[in-house]
Amino acid sequence: MTETAQSARKIDGKAFAATLREKIATHVARLKEVHGLTPGLAVILVGEDPASQVYVRNKGVQTVEVGMNSYEHKLPDDVSEEVLYALIDKLNADPAVHGILCQFPVPAHLSETEIVARIDPAKDVDGLSVINAGLLASGQKAMVSCTPLGCLMLLRDELGSLSGKSAVVIGRSNLVGKPVAQLLLRDSCTVTIAHSRTADLPAVVRQADIVVAAVGRAQMVKGDWLKKGATVIDVGINRIPAPERGEGKMRLVGDVDYDSALAVAGAITPVPGGVGPMTIACLLANTVTACCRSNGLPEPEGLTA
Ligand code: NDP
Repeated sequence: MTETAQSARKIDGKAFAATLREKIATHVARLKEVHGLTPGLAVILVGEDPASQVYVRNKGVQTVEVGMNSYEHKLPDDVSEEVLYALIDKLNADPAVHGILCQFPVPAHLSETEIVARIDPAKDVDGLSVINAGLLASGQKAMVSCTPLGCLMLLRDELGSLSGKSAVVIGRSNLVGKPVAQLLLRDSCTVTIAHSRTADLPAVVRQADIVVAAVGRAQMVKGDWLKKGATVIDVGINRIPAPERGEGKMRLVGDVDYDSALAVAGAITPVPGGVGPMTIACLLANTVTACCRSNGLPEPEGLTA
């Protein structure tokens, strides 16, 4: 008798993000009605990078859709450090601005590390500052980076308690891998962080109940690397040629080989439509959280880690 191939449940990040935005809109409406407060998000864009322009536009549209104020600041690509820092200082001091983010990458004459350090940690809604990374690592109240927060929300929704689960995070970047690992540790997972020097990665991945892939290598993690029934969060966004769609066409894939993983995993995020849509939704959630914290109000349930 042949065994029927299992098909993993699809974790629908697009639907989850839409529900999260509805929750955020409800909280924003209450903040306005009860406290006369409107959360505000300021986004700084340096230069004319087309992809960055699209991201910034999307952030602005979604910010306004949930009822918050969006402040966009476009600076020329030869802007001086002094002018950029003066703008950040002004936004840091502005009580109507609760979240500040600078869209990366920035031109080479500017330092991303120094830009992040200049933003008030309480308004660092991208959660990228060393202060917020340190607060997260020491188990204190932090602003948590948006993509890792999105991964955690999807995992909690899928699995309930994560306590005692074995988790492997592939990737150790400050943006994704490390904060994801910290969040999973905080939820009492037993966490392994894998990277490009990890020996026998398939064997490491095979012992995990939870796999988070944040590598940037198309379809690297194969189905036969997975433990049966594992929950797989695919953070990767990679463009590969798609000749079946026409000459020169491309398509998006994750770091996990989705088709082979479907037969083994218990649940998996697709790319696109998995982690991606969670990132902006979590940025909005962080802005509401920052607004509540700065005004000494209780934080709304379900928007933080
Ligand atoms: P980085 O390039 O900063 O980090 C990649 C990590 O993967 C590194 O730690 C690297 O290890 C590790 N790595 C590289 N090759 C291998 C390998 N062969 N085996 C094991 N580990 C390997 O990427 P990011 O963390 O910024 O992003 C990761 C992916 O997530 C990208 O595809 C990116 O586009 C996507 N992304 C998606 C977001 C979203 O959905 N909104 C947001 C942010 C990122 P080492 O440290 O040893 O070099």
